[in-house]
Amino acid sequence: MASSSVDADVLVVGAGPTGLMLANQLVRRGVRSLIIDRHQGPARETRALGVQARTLEIYSHLGIVEQALELGKRGVAANLWAYGRRAARVPVADIGRDTSPYPYLLILGQDENERLLGDLLRTQGMSVQWNTELVGLAQQQDRVVAAVRNPNGTTRELAAAWVGGCDGARSTVRELSGIEFQGAPYQHVFFVADTEMTGPMVPDELNIYMWPDGFHLFFPMRGVDHWRIVGILPPALRGRDDVTLDDVAPSMRQEAGAGLSFKRCSWFSTYRIHHRRAERFRDRRCFLLGDAAHIHSPVGAQGMNTGLQDSYNLAWKLALVASGRADSTLLDSYEIERIPVARQLLSTTDRLFSAAVSDTTFAGFFRTRLFPRLAALAMRIEKIRKLAFRTISQTGIHYRESPLSETLPGVPDAGPRAGDRFPWLRLTLSPNGPVEDLFQKLDDTRFTLILVGQPAPAEAVPGLGPLLCTLVIPDDEVSRRELARVHVPRPAFYLLRPDGHVGLCGTRLDVAAVTRYVSERLTAGRA
Ligand SMILES: Cc1cc2nc3c(=O)[nH]c(=O)nc-3n(C[C@H](O)[C@H](O)[C@H](O)COP(=O)(O)OP(=O)(O)OC[C@H]3O[C@@H](n4cnc5c(N)ncnc54)[C@H](O)[C@@H]3O)c2cc1C
Repeated sequence: MASSSVDADVLVVGAGPTGLMLANQLVRRGVRSLIIDRHQGPARETRALGVQARTLEIYSHLGIVEQALELGKRGVAANLWAYGRRAARVPVADIGRDTSPYPYLLILGQDENERLLGDLLRTQGMSVQWNTELVGLAQQQDRVVAAVRNPNGTTRELAAAWVGGCDGARSTVRELSGIEFQGAPYQHVFFVADTEMTGPMVPDELNIYMWPDGFHLFFPMRGVDHWRIVGILPPALRGRDDVTLDDVAPSMRQEAGAGLSFKRCSWFSTYRIHHRRAERFRDRRCFLLGDAAHIHSPVGAQGMNTGLQDSYNLAWKLALVASGRADSTLLDSYEIERIPVARQLLSTTDRLFSAAVSDTTFAGFFRTRLFPRLAALAMRIEKIRKLAFRTISQTGIHYRESPLSETLPGVPDAGPRAGDRFPWLRLTLSPNGPVEDLFQKLDDTRFTLILVGQPAPAEAVPGLGPLLCTLVIPDDEVSRRELARVHVPRPAFYLLRPDGHVGLCGTRLDVAAVTRYVSERLTAGRA
């Protein structure tokens, strides 16, 4: 256990989606935590809109997925418009049918996500300390002493064994840790508007209006005629900070058609986007997560989801270390695993965004004439559809290069390997039992040893104790077919980490290999 003389094992700075996820994951793992935020209360703006399948899988473990599904709208199709005409309709409902129990993009505003996570935190007995700002950090050998400004303006000191810097793009944790935020702003300025409106848009579906110099996205929101619009501010309006919907309406009508009729605008904001990444995600006892670690264009609805998954990656590791079950070197794997994800995300979103806003004649022609048809054609091809879903939904993220990943000889390349998120399967999990959802059987606060074509070991695997559960897949027709579909060999074993990624895998179970893995990768050096 971390020293009882600290105020918390983990101090979470920032109660946006990333901080709320981190705090929830820590508290359900029994980690003494505190969460502070300098704002007066939860943000009211929608901001991010797309909740990806991988996030919904995590919400399912948290018990909030049903609420999220009820509140949101499932992405059914994207309609691509050019010059006032619908050029293509790309169906995306159930696009990831065999990959995830949530095979779609859920449209649900960031404010609703934050509310669900905040409510859950309260039911777990923890509340955000609002109006409380981090203003100083001093790292000592066994703790971090944080200076925080209280709601009444006084300053106090809080000692924590670890600090989770979830404090957004202008992160104080990052600045006080002297970590560079490398990158640059784009010249384009975005606007976002929450509106009640009518027009030629296909109801309940995403409508994308492409024009030679850019695009407008219309997201259907819950309620009648409720649309969230994202677009690029016309260059003439860029320098102004008093822009309203009325200022951008003419350009929208010009591109999307004169039939647009606005009844109400509940939120309008402009923002300049940047592409930046923190040079490191850790300085000794302080970690950076979410926008504090990486920001990029909103293309692909990845920002909020990536922050949520940073938290999911770090939380189980912090919990093992804070409870004294693992050595602190386990925490090194956080940035080793998450920096490549951020690097890839920045380069992909940068390429897509640059293509989407390029004002060359060819780019304009491509965007308005070729892209809609190509996209519709490509999405008819099963392989491309699968690849697109795995990439956008974040279910394809893997940590194969991580020091926590070890694939023993004999595991086929085509099947799951160490570092991969173990695939979603529907199996019979008891002899002659019903077909069940494997993910419902995984306890994400523990490790799971999945055994295929072999019985459970006679002796317990030393090292993990009650943190390990074992799942033997019965040998029947349904399971065989399902395992063959994802190229799981027979026999096989997979040791899953709490976050559902494979740590160690092989064919015939070798208890000595599992014991060695646990002692070298998880508990090495533990006092
Ligand atoms: C106008 C706008 C529109 C956006 N639209 C999209 C979109 O369509 N799609 C998308 O994917 N992303 C979008 N984003 C980005 C998305 O909102 C972020 O990726 C997401 O909010 C990141 O969550 P976070 O928790 O990491 O950081 P944040 O949500 O920024 O939360 C950080 C929190 O830390 C707190 N904080 C900061 N400093 C301190 C301190 N010193 N002490 C205590 N607390 C502190 C802040 O008050 C804040 O509550 C948009 C952003 C903006 C501004």
